Amino acid sequence: MSTFTYEFDTPSFKGKTSFNTGLYINGKWVEGSDQTYIDVVNPSTGKTITKVSEATPKDVDIAVGAAKTAFATTWGLNTPGAARAKLLAKLAQIMEDHQQELAALEALDNGKTFNWAMDVDTTFAIDTIRYYSGWADKIHGQVQETDERKLTYTRHEPLGVVGQIIPWNFPLLMMSWKIGPALATGNCVILKPSEFTPLTAIRMCEFIHEAGFPPGSFNLLTGYGPTVGNAISSHMKIEKVAFTGSTLVGRKIMEAAAKSNLKDVTLELGGKSPNIIFDDADLDQAVNWAAHGIYWNHGQACCAGSRIFVQSGIYDEFLKKFTDKTRSLKVGDPFATDSYQGPQVSEIQYDRIMDFIKSGKEQGATVHFGGERHGTEGYFIQPTIFTDTTPDMKIVQEEIFGPVGVVIKFEDDEDVIRQANDTTYGLASAVFSQNINRALKTAHRLQAGTAWVNCVNQLHSNVPFGGYKQSGIGRELGEYALKNYTAVKAVHVNLGHIMD
Ligand code: NAD
Repeated sequence: MSTFTYEFDTPSFKGKTSFNTGLYINGKWVEGSDQTYIDVVNPSTGKTITKVSEATPKDVDIAVGAAKTAFATTWGLNTPGAARAKLLAKLAQIMEDHQQELAALEALDNGKTFNWAMDVDTTFAIDTIRYYSGWADKIHGQVQETDERKLTYTRHEPLGVVGQIIPWNFPLLMMSWKIGPALATGNCVILKPSEFTPLTAIRMCEFIHEAGFPPGSFNLLTGYGPTVGNAISSHMKIEKVAFTGSTLVGRKIMEAAAKSNLKDVTLELGGKSPNIIFDDADLDQAVNWAAHGIYWNHGQACCAGSRIFVQSGIYDEFLKKFTDKTRSLKVGDPFATDSYQGPQVSEIQYDRIMDFIKSGKEQGATVHFGGERHGTEGYFIQPTIFTDTTPDMKIVQEEIFGPVGVVIKFEDDEDVIRQANDTTYGLASAVFSQNINRALKTAHRLQAGTAWVNCVNQLHSNVPFGGYKQSGIGRELGEYALKNYTAVKAVHVNLGHIMD
């Protein structure tokens, strides 16, 4: 079994990390059954950092077997909620004790800045696990009034073995959103992280092990989508698949689920979120939030405010200030203390984004700022502003998933609501106005699972998150997510109803 050892000697963090890079099945670290490996690349340099085990569909079968045994013996209905709560609380504490190490791994593997990984990814992931620890002993059904000769009640039971497939943009955070509610409700988990960013998930196995979760209750399979991801979605003994990623793959997962055992599916998919700035907004605040909306996490956020609609009366002033703000954002080493933006996650993503920029130019939009590679090494792209777009352009319709925003002029409220809703996506939206009636009326008319008013990218463990339209099915976070991992059983008890 290989070990990954890395000495961080950076301005943000100095320290060492060292852990097994195998699969984690049934409480043990093992090699993939074909003994093949996946290269993990540092996006700041384009160089390979380490190799991790590659799972195969056979390993999915092995993990499902272990998970089913755990569900029938040491987990599921056999472990009281209070015991599950204690384990999750312990896990949150271990994560907190290693927060800087987790943030450094995220910066190394994904390219996000260490500062953001500390302030958002790790802080929020710890908070999510702690939040669901609080729910574990509060899962309860209801008593229904039916007939005095009957007692009727519901139980919210765990589903069994659940598969979870996550992307690379918030590796640890997405893991916490998935495993928190699944383990709190007593399900056994088989998680597949993205092949691009497996390191924090692998490190988490040691924390889960140390916290004392029983073997088989949590299993990690590092591997590729078309093999391991597909085997999870198609598996006859996996009761549910929860997926975060692209709409394209979400469709495949749903198809595989339908063609196999009709497993339950929740999907958190892409977005092309509108950010509407009315002429009565606090302009400086709108500029700062709009920049955060599109450039945060290098634009690799499903909820990125990538379509910035600005009312005509303030358009020129907004654009000037927004350009100045964009220019001020430092692109560079994720471990430098003043970097705002690091590299895109991979060469594939870098090429994809540069192709979008090319298509914007070819279709007649104006590159108002940026639009080029930053530096000569790694996958850095300048924060980029497009203007003079038309609604049919690819850069206006499709999710770019990079630091590329389009600024669009609008005339009035009706015009902007129509344009904002003119998309197949519906994940998030934002409205900036100091007129609360106007702001709320607009927020209510936007077809999106989240509407931010005078802010963007606000997420909390107890607030649901998910999409309308092709941005997904179901909601994560909050009490809402518990529904994704429980089945409702109605129990009817005869207290004296005599059958002749
Ligand atoms: P992706 O869809 O390419 O991959 C996501 C995961 O699916 C990875 O683990 C991948 O290995 C796996 N996968 C790929 N093909 C598969 C298949 N055929 N069967 C099963 N699994 C398969 O997405 P990505 O590029 O990793 O992430 C970016 C996308 O994720 C963006 O579209 C973004 O909007 C979306 N996203 C959505 C949310 C949300 O909450 N709505 C959050 C983060 C990211």
